[in-house]
Amino acid sequence: MKRVCTVLLVAAGIALGQTGKIEIVPIRGHMYLLAGAGANITLSVGPDGVFMVDAGLPEMSDKVIAAVEQLSRDVAKQGQPVNSYPPPKPIRYLANTTISPEHTGGNVKIAEAGKTFTGGNVAIDLASGFANDDAAILATEKASLRMVEAKMPGNGQPTETYEKGIMKLSHFFNGEGIELLHMPNATTDGDSIVWFRGSDVIAAGDIFDMSSYPFIDVAKGGSIQGVLAALNKMDEMSEAEFRTEGGTLVIPGHGRICDLADLAYYRDMVTIIRDRVEWMMKKDMTLAQIQAARPTEDWDARYGRNPKWTPQQFVEAIYKGLSGGKK
Ligand SMILES: [Zn+2]
Repeated sequence: MKRVCTVLLVAAGIALGQTGKIEIVPIRGHMYLLAGAGANITLSVGPDGVFMVDAGLPEMSDKVIAAVEQLSRDVAKQGQPVNSYPPPKPIRYLANTTISPEHTGGNVKIAEAGKTFTGGNVAIDLASGFANDDAAILATEKASLRMVEAKMPGNGQPTETYEKGIMKLSHFFNGEGIELLHMPNATTDGDSIVWFRGSDVIAAGDIFDMSSYPFIDVAKGGSIQGVLAALNKMDEMSEAEFRTEGGTLVIPGHGRICDLADLAYYRDMVTIIRDRVEWMMKKDMTLAQIQAARPTEDWDARYGRNPKWTPQQFVEAIYKGLSGGKK
């Protein structure tokens, strides 16, 4: 087992074991992973405050907020003389990589626990007359619309959205640039990955999932082509460290922290399965026949155990994507 990953398997085990406990795992420098809240939560913690990627399940929010506060306090103490610790900094930003509840369920509570930078992005609530100074929530416009559709309460909805391409934070945050990059038609039509440029960390969301085949919600604009394009894009953005573990670290939506080798392996697996389904379709096999032929078989022991996203469902989503939606 690889060095970077051994430490993190502990956290992944906790995340998968659903012990109800939140585990704080250091990624690199001021970057941390919170495991156990539903989806992985990636954090940048430092003098500018906290930038969070994904919110976790709503029932985990209190524990998530307590863990972030603890971390923020510990980081504020670093290098400071005893008894003159500066106060911990609040959560400033929450980015949503996708729309499902394990990524967005905690939006309301976490935004409320945070505090935005005062400035142009403070909205005044006309009814109460108070300024809404909750943490800013960042996502694509499409993800935002889908959250409204799913009846996300107002203060859990994204406050800053972008249509496509890139949303750059307007200033360095904890010493580095942070970008949200839209990955079109991947698990849905509104997915983002979040790139911490100085730390060389990418939060991938569910496009890259160490506990499952990648989820594809065809009804919400997801497609196998988009998932593969996104995996290839992240591969292109990542650097390997020579003969050791390290280089760019990629945080999957679920499971342990990964590097370029892990990402490339996953991308290759998804590509091979796509190619097999495509080949079978060219032989005029029906969806049922293709599912029965088990094009995922080689990896089912590793990735086929998610009861909410079975190999059969994954193959069906690939089939629909390749056949342009027709049966
Ligand atoms: Zn997820």
